[in-house]
Amino acid sequence: MTDFAGLRAVVTGGASGIGLAAAQLLAARGAQVVVFDLKPEVDAPLTAIAADVSDDGSVRDAVAAAALQLGGIDVVVNNAGIGAQGNVTANDDAEWHRVLDVNVVGIARVTRAALPHLRKSEAAAIVNTCSIAATAGLPNRALYSASKGAVLALTMAMAADHVREGIRVNCVNPGTADTPWVGRLLDVAADPAAERAALEARQPMGRLVSADEVAQAIAYLASPLSGSTTGTALAVDGGMQNL
Ligand code: NAD
Repeated sequence: MTDFAGLRAVVTGGASGIGLAAAQLLAARGAQVVVFDLKPEVDAPLTAIAADVSDDGSVRDAVAAAALQLGGIDVVVNNAGIGAQGNVTANDDAEWHRVLDVNVVGIARVTRAALPHLRKSEAAAIVNTCSIAATAGLPNRALYSASKGAVLALTMAMAADHVREGIRVNCVNPGTADTPWVGRLLDVAADPAAERAALEARQPMGRLVSADEVAQAIAYLASPLSGSTTGTALAVDGGMQNL
């Protein structure tokens, strides 16, 4: 498929997991894709720029470099994110600020740097990677859930602010997705294989969501196929939100 032919995309956190799957899918469908990541290691046809979404100067430099390299920007996938565990008492102020800075303010930084380029596009779309944690009331994820709740609200606010400029803004809400992130959590368990089996058994579909399934949803929301859709959250959670 070449539904992204001629389109130029930036994917943050695109060197791993959901972001990598999305970047590869957009490229396979014909987009030129630049990945922003702390570890800018990707295989062709992707290219990567070292960028830290918690650093405004780094973001502005990376967006300028990507726009120069691509000749403009049509699609921004704000996917970079970090986790946090525990209830509301588990993290100190510094950790609250660190996680909100990456997961929420990072989206604002990338978006405000990219907006002048998106305004020149005929097919401008922003897709934010949110989470089922924004809506599900997950236990032991207080800070992470707060950050993703903010991403959901920010997505809807940005959609309203930019709809008349022809810029669509949507988000995906993955459930537990099989990425290196989840692999890292399982690896610290006493018995990672047993922990994985237990995690899968807790899922309504008896398995984790795949990164490619989330990427397919991101691609849909980034593509002109969803041209009348803005301000929405597409769950890719294996039925978790209905529990
Ligand atoms: P991952 O750890 O596999 O990949 C995240 C990528 O983001 C990494 O390459 C990392 O280097 C990059 N990154 C982290 N901080 C960054 C920063 N400050 N600047 C630039 N890049 C940075 O994780 P993943 O599972 O693919 O998660 C991607 C997104 O999906 C995150 O926003 C996460 O909250 C969300 N999500 C994941 C799951 C899941 O179960 N895996 C579920 C719901 C939502």
